[in-house]
Amino acid sequence: MVESGRIDHAHHDTNAKRAMEETVEFQKAVAAAMEELGDEQGETLVVVTADHSHAVTINGYPPRGNPILGHVYSEPYTYSHYPDGTKQAYATISYANGPGYFKHFKNDSSVPWMDMRGQDYNDVDFLQPAMVPTGPEDPSETHGGEDVPIYAIGPQAYLLSGVHEQSYIAHVMAYAACVGDYSEDCPRHMDVQCSSAARVGCSIVSLVSSLLLLLWNKFL
Ligand SMILES: [Zn+2]
Repeated sequence: MVESGRIDHAHHDTNAKRAMEETVEFQKAVAAAMEELGDEQGETLVVVTADHSHAVTINGYPPRGNPILGHVYSEPYTYSHYPDGTKQAYATISYANGPGYFKHFKNDSSVPWMDMRGQDYNDVDFLQPAMVPTGPEDPSETHGGEDVPIYAIGPQAYLLSGVHEQSYIAHVMAYAACVGDYSEDCPRHMDVQCSSAARVGCSIVSLVSSLLLLLWNKFL
């Protein structure tokens, strides 16, 4: 099991550049795991997911080719517009809450949002703006509440599609690995039972048991 916990830490700082760079490192870790599996890839269930989201969003209509860490400011309507007529550029990535409300760099003074033009987004310490200030006891940006994706490859990966409660993931892993409650009721066990039976019959047994597992998780 690998956790790329620094993605989370960077988001808590409203530090999108570090969060993205850590995501690239996480991708390398997944690639390394797949390479390590080698010929056993077809026999190993690999699951990639997150335990929560963050209060971060990609917003606005930045023109094609605009850097993702950059700002949005283009006519006729993609800039922030204040009642007094002031127009300001805003960051493509922003947070609903966190230290980015007051600070754009970690050593910044308490300056609220400002026009994003002229900011050095590529500085790794640049903090994206936030709508709600946090702190001083706990200045961290918070986790978010939306669904997170789950990606899977290998045996029984097909069970991880659609929308599920997170506890369902553990059931799929146990079922694929033939452990725990599924040690006597899993695909491998059925393969042994069916080894001498007709191929079509085995397929039907596998299909029916998979449907039962799905229904069990859906209604219980
Ligand atoms: Zn966290």
